[in-house]
Amino acid sequence: MESIEQHYQSMVQAIENYTPTADMLRINAAVDFASRKHANQKRKDGSPYVIHPLAVAEIVAEIGLDTDAILGALLHDCIEDTDTTFDEITEHFGRAVAELVEGVTKLTRVQYSTTEEQQMENLRKMFMAMSKDIRVILIKIADRLHNTRTLQYQSPDKQVLKSRETMDIYAPLAHRLGMQKIKWELEDLSLRYLEPDAYNEIMTYLADREELSRQFMEKIQSQVSDRLQTVGIRCTIYGRVKHVYSIYRKMLAQGKSLDEIYDLYAFRVIVDTIADCYNVLGHIHDLYKLVPGRFKDYISTPKPNMYQSLHTTVIGKDGRPFEVQIRTWAMHETAEYGIAAHWKYKQNGAGGGTEQQFEWVRRLLENQQDVDAEDYIHSLKMDMFDDEVFVFTPRGKVISLPSGSTPIDFAYAIHSEVGNHLIGAKINNRIASYDAVLKNGDIVEAITAQGSRGPSRDWLKICKSNQARIKIRQWFKKEKRDENIVRGKASFDAELRRVAISPAVLQNDELVALILKKVSFESMEDLYATIGYGGMTAQKAVNRAQEELLRFSRVPQKEDIPKLSVREQARSRHSDSGVLVAGIDSCMIKFARCCTPVPGDDIVGFITKGFGVSVHRADCPNVKTARTPENSDRWIPVSWAGGEESEPFTTTLEIESLDRDGLVLDLATVLTTLKLKVKELSARSIAAGKAQTTLTFSVHNLDELSLVRQKVRAVAGVTDVRRGHN
Ligand code: MN
Repeated sequence: MESIEQHYQSMVQAIENYTPTADMLRINAAVDFASRKHANQKRKDGSPYVIHPLAVAEIVAEIGLDTDAILGALLHDCIEDTDTTFDEITEHFGRAVAELVEGVTKLTRVQYSTTEEQQMENLRKMFMAMSKDIRVILIKIADRLHNTRTLQYQSPDKQVLKSRETMDIYAPLAHRLGMQKIKWELEDLSLRYLEPDAYNEIMTYLADREELSRQFMEKIQSQVSDRLQTVGIRCTIYGRVKHVYSIYRKMLAQGKSLDEIYDLYAFRVIVDTIADCYNVLGHIHDLYKLVPGRFKDYISTPKPNMYQSLHTTVIGKDGRPFEVQIRTWAMHETAEYGIAAHWKYKQNGAGGGTEQQFEWVRRLLENQQDVDAEDYIHSLKMDMFDDEVFVFTPRGKVISLPSGSTPIDFAYAIHSEVGNHLIGAKINNRIASYDAVLKNGDIVEAITAQGSRGPSRDWLKICKSNQARIKIRQWFKKEKRDENIVRGKASFDAELRRVAISPAVLQNDELVALILKKVSFESMEDLYATIGYGGMTAQKAVNRAQEELLRFSRVPQKEDIPKLSVREQARSRHSDSGVLVAGIDSCMIKFARCCTPVPGDDIVGFITKGFGVSVHRADCPNVKTARTPENSDRWIPVSWAGGEESEPFTTTLEIESLDRDGLVLDLATVLTTLKLKVKELSARSIAAGKAQTTLTFSVHNLDELSLVRQKVRAVAGVTDVRRGHN
């Protein structure tokens, strides 16, 4: 069994090697404090508990964190496992250290209870969000690394559970923070418990070939260093067998046996400058055969986790492929310790808050097109979590909500039934009001009752998430049907009155049937209910059934037809307009010259200033542009009276055709055959051997017009016939 003294010495050694500026007085005080607090506790293997914080502090020192972080590591289990309080730590070691310990404690209390991918992503994000200080996560990862290293003392169940958690949460976190070395160790140790057979197979395979591997690696190393020495490049070369988990993953992904695994070896050439990196690359490609498609330049385009290196795979003379990574020393530090490596450099300069510590990451990643990069910043930079908050259910499920969310949002995020029956809420076991703002890590409980009155309309103002808002609206739609019907009927009737139709027309069953057909509802109640909750506007409903409503609301009488002066008759194309205007018994009607509507066209009316109602085709471009919110009240429903048309209506067709001899004659023949009154027929050449002909004539209705179009379309050389628009 290892002694406290051994662990203490090994920690001191790590501090001397990696953080020589650390304050040993404070560190020793924290060692004493932790030893006293954990005095009566034992680890699973029977050793004194304080060995664990000492080992965690050693890892934290190795990754180069500062004195406060080392203190945080030494004290990290004090609040959770002993009677130590936040204030006590503040008093002895300062507030910064107490906050680190508290941060780690919070993460320790996070329950890992699921293997759903979405949940794990939320958990990882929550870890980030909860650790306002990146050192909290680094200490937590160091804590996990030591616990993983000593997992053999735990029960088999716990070994698997913890390994799963490590694989799902901690290894990806270490990866995101760029800590490759720790990530690999976490993965290899976890694989041992999760896939013992595969792990043992790979380990045995590698052990059997250890001597061969060593010889191979030495040979390559000396070949490379000899060459680089001749050309005067200073370098350090490491050879290694790839880590177990990465071999396992390759076997799995490529469906290959160990013998077939492409490259088991990786070499690292570490040099002083970036220029040297590219020089070394050239020499490697000169010495060995290049495997095409494997070269990657992560120097010019760093990975999202800041990793930089040149990667290439080559084949030696004996046909064995291997990977070579080329990087500078600074890149190497970053590759091993990621964000922590940067921490180390930062420490020596002017101290800065979290904000500044992440500034450089953003700068580094700014020019990257990588989608992951953005992801990475999001998960790294705490401030960016301002738009999201992560809370727990009492059973430990993580729920992600928009920041500012309330217990109402929480309840609806669980299930709409929970939201609809909500009668109260608890946050961290205390009764909370509906509008309480949830914070990261809060444990939230929705209190429900079957007999609840359901959501109130005020909730729509309190809730923050769309999800809650939509579900509350849905409830009102379903549950408040009676209320909606009353509300909907009122606005439908009001809309009828607005267009001067008496709601009394609805007493006509025949009309009601026609309206329902137009609006596609089973009953008027359904229609009202829909209008009531806002699924359709009353205006839209009335518009759809406009024709029927008008027909039933007012059977045209001869004396009602607008009387026009002689001058007005001249301007109008029709003395008896044949158009009914909603709510206006007698008015001047004129037909818009721009779109020349004929009976049967969908039409709308525009109340002009002083010239009565101007009737346009509904699809007239002028209507679309003129229908602004300011003059919306001047547009009124109009419809064709449907009586006998005594006089024909003038309209225009635009004919596009090949520009050929005899075209006009052919058109004229068609028109004569149809007995049309032609007012104008003018043809002109347009580009590319084509001609455009404008034809103005009179028809009685849309059917007649369709026939004309059809006949004209059939004339040789005609390519298109359109209604005219001026
Ligand atoms: Mn611990």
